[in-house]
Amino acid sequence: MTDRKQQLEMLRDELIDRFNRYKAHKEQRGGPLDKDMEEQSIELQNDNVIEALQQEAEDELRQVVHALERIDDGEGDCCEQCGEVIDARRLAALPQTTLCRDCAERTH
Ligand SMILES: [Zn+2]
Repeated sequence: MTDRKQQLEMLRDELIDRFNRYKAHKEQRGGPLDKDMEEQSIELQNDNVIEALQQEAEDELRQVVHALERIDDGEGDCCEQCGEVIDARRLAALPQTTLCRDCAERTH
């Protein structure tokens, strides 16, 4: 359990980082890109793409924070929708999930 929490905390920090970089890039358009961003600069030349990536990071971040809250509440292992225990392999592969496979498939 601690492992998953640590994993999520790392993911959260990464996402905050990513989100801030997109934001900074948008704010100083045409400014220098840092190393990671430079590798992606072809894709990132379009403002709409950055907007979409920023949105994606924000959505993912929200999901990660939500999963962390559920862990703190002692419900991190249980599906948010049906209350079933979420498969450990699923949690290992997708630590930010709060739904079991069945419910995730149903909502998609
Ligand atoms: Zn479920």
